[in-house]
Amino acid sequence: MTYVFDPPAVVSAAIAGQESRFPVHRIYCVGRNYAAHALEMGSDPDREAPFFFMKPADAVVASGAAIAFARNTENLHYEIELVIAIGKGGRDIARSEALDHVFGYGVGIDLTRRDRQNEAKDAGRPWDIGKGFDNAAPLAPLHPASQVGHPTAGRIWLAVNGEVRQDSNLDQLIWSVPEIVSILSRSWDLKPGDLIYSGTPDKVGPLHPGDVVTGGIDGLTHVKITLTP
Ligand code: MN
Repeated sequence: MTYVFDPPAVVSAAIAGQESRFPVHRIYCVGRNYAAHALEMGSDPDREAPFFFMKPADAVVASGAAIAFARNTENLHYEIELVIAIGKGGRDIARSEALDHVFGYGVGIDLTRRDRQNEAKDAGRPWDIGKGFDNAAPLAPLHPASQVGHPTAGRIWLAVNGEVRQDSNLDQLIWSVPEIVSILSRSWDLKPGDLIYSGTPDKVGPLHPGDVVTGGIDGLTHVKITLTP
């Protein structure tokens, strides 16, 4: 096989405690999945089915990296999220079978150009410019479910320059991991290598050049990124 130019490198994520890496296929994200965050964004958490958007696979940023403040935004927001890593593909996956498709879990940040997202919402346009930009998906090393199980509760938090800004618990998820995997698989064929950012708790907020952003979920490796000054 020859190509007219060099093909892009395979995007991959680190796996805690091993050399082998997790090759990334797609990044799916759940819109509003904590009642308190749905309320702060002006939605009724009781009436909304889960909805999804995507980021390009190469938006993944390894934890520990320094990245530039995103272009084309005056209001770059953090969103700490549990990331589900799919290890076995499928479609129309039953909720009772869904966990068999999960490779493991990680801590991620759904970086968001909130100004661009809000403009898109107001105009009825796609969210891509607000969500799917370069470096928009920082991700800590993944932990295999064979080692950490399938978390259903535990603290989820994010701090900026050491000051805690988001502080919630996975037991506040509106849609559980099996429900997310099952519902997502009704609309897309899930593939090994898919990542699902499962939604953020409340108290999202802005970042600034020079900020150090850290976040964690009980039992998983913390995520950390630095925005260059
Ligand atoms: Mn999000």
